[in-house]
Formats: sequence, structure tokens, C-alpha cells
Amino acid sequence: MPKMRAVQVSRAGGPLEMVEREIPSPPPGFVRVRVEANGICHSDVLTKEGIFPGIQYPRVPGHEVAGVVDALGDGVAAWKVGDRVGIGWHGGHCGHCDSCRRGDFLTCRVDFRITGIAFDGGYADYVVAPAAVLARIPDGMSATDAAPLMDAGATTFNALRFSGARPGDLVAVLGIGGLGHLGVQWAAKMGFDTVAIARGADKEPLARQLGARVYIDSRKQDPAAELQRLGGARLVLATVTNAEAMTATLGGLGPNGTLLVVGAPGEPLQVSAGVLIFGRRSVAGWPSGRAVESEDTMRFAALHGVRPMTEPYPLDRAAEAYDRMMSGDARFRVVLTM
Ligand SMILES: [Zn+2]
Ligand SMILES: [Zn+2]
Repeated sequence: MPKMRAVQVSRAGGPLEMVEREIPSPPPGFVRVRVEANGICHSDVLTKEGIFPGIQYPRVPGHEVAGVVDALGDGVAAWKVGDRVGIGWHGGHCGHCDSCRRGDFLTCRVDFRITGIAFDGGYADYVVAPAAVLARIPDGMSATDAAPLMDAGATTFNALRFSGARPGDLVAVLGIGGLGHLGVQWAAKMGFDTVAIARGADKEPLARQLGARVYIDSRKQDPAAELQRLGGARLVLATVTNAEAMTATLGGLGPNGTLLVVGAPGEPLQVSAGVLIFGRRSVAGWPSGRAVESEDTMRFAALHGVRPMTEPYPLDRAAEAYDRMMSGDARFRVVLTM
């Protein structure tokens, strides 16, 4: 049997270890994808540390897959061998619960499947996934660029475009990391009056290069006061993993403004009821997107020249690449290349 490389975790909190496995065959309704690149996401910690309830080991993490369809299971009609595709967070759904019947697969109550958690993901030479969760990669977009758009890109893109904010509205992106550096680019290209908020003056040139009209250095300035000085934000897209930094922007929301949370701090958010009530403000969250929405994300990126900034690592250095992501020093998305 032909073999492939896979980087697996064999117990909660265990190391990422390279193993050799048989190349799997796709069952009916599934495809096999030859992986070319896989973005490393902070959520891979759910697999690595066994945080996700019910996760079974050994498990191969990775839900930002970009590659080429390599084999088709029976009954797959929409794809052919050679198609360039991505696989993201959305790795499957039950298809018959009320959410699925409404097409809202991300809130499937019965069997929402996350790539790299429910089944083996992209830290490997091949992935087998349901045909229903593939997204087409546009011509001319490299696998290394496509991979981070499958989750980091789709999460920020969908959060912004479904937020209700309209062109010209004041939209702030909190944090310029793996998610935020994409968030700023989307916001600017969508026509929002884009503000970037981050720590330190050194991030300002990059924030402006990504499309921010205004930069707020939260080390020196009070983000809430600065946003109010600009008229109050319609939306703050919070991409950081620090609850205090998120709530420090609440006072900067204008009437009907929303703090939209896509980063996941370990600690709870402290929110003053008065701030919510008297300005009709809200705090909301956004989870990634459906496969077809990752495809929308990539198409928008291709149309408007949005690209992730990546640090590529070969698959055999996956453990080092993961540590690099966890360090918070990566600029900005660590991507495994096969
Ligand atoms: Zn992710
Ligand atoms: Zn369902």
C-alpha cells in the first residue's frame, strides 16, 4: 500500500508527531485531496490539548487545507480529479436538523463536524472529506495564499459582510494578527471607514498599508475615546484573544454599534449593562463560515488583491511551526507546505 506522511497528536496534550500511514480511500460521497498547504490556526489547540469535548485520538489537526482533488468516492458529481480546492472549519453537517434544513450548517445541532477535530485534517499529505465541504480555489491563487483564507479569512470576511455595517460606516478592527491583518484588508476593500487598533506605534505603517485610514495605538491612546472622537464605531471586529482589550473598545461604539467577537479569550468578557442598554449596543460572535462562503472569501480576495501574509514551514517542521503560531510572534499566518 502506498504511504503518506501525517502529523498526529496521540493523546490530549501530547506532542505533534510525524507518522507514516496508508493513503486513505474516499468512501461514497467523499473525496480525497492531496494537500499542498495547510494554515495553522489558534483553534488547533482544541485538537492538540484535547479541549474539544469528545475528541478521539490519534487525530491529525488542521482546518485550513488547500490542495487538489486526487480521488473521488462513488456518487460525487460536483468535483473532478485535478480540481483545486480548500477545506475549512466546516467539515460536515447532519443535513436533516432544523438548522441544516435552513442551510445554516454552522449551527447544526446534531452532527456538526470540524475538520481536524471530528476527522483527520490538513497536517498531512492527504485528507479525505465530504464532497459537500469543498471550496473552489480561484485560478492564479497559490495554495499557500488560499489555505489561511479557508478559516482566518472566511471568519473575518463573513463577520464583516454579515454584520449589517454598510459602506462608509466606521468599522474598527481590534488586533493585527492572523485574523486582524485580513480583517483590515476586507474592511477597507468593502468600503468601510476603517480603523485599526493594536498595541505599539510599530504596527502603524503596516496597518495603513493594509488599508486602515486611522490607527489607534492602544498603549498610548484610549481606544474608546478615540473611536468616539471619530463619531463612534458601527462595528468593532475583535480579533484578539484578550478579553480586557475587547471590552476596552465597548465605550467606542456608536448607537446600535456592535462588538463582534471572533477571537477567543480564555476568560469571560465583562460588559456593563448601561453601555448596552442606553446606546442599543450589542456584543455578538461569529463562527467561520460554510464551505461556499470560504469560496466567496477567496473569490473576493482574488478580485480585490487581498492576500494573507504567511510564514511557510515544511510539513516535517510542523511542531516548530505550531510553536511559532502559539508564540504570537508570527507574521501573520504560519502555513505548512507539503
Ligand atoms: Zn481556525
Ligand atoms: Zn444538522
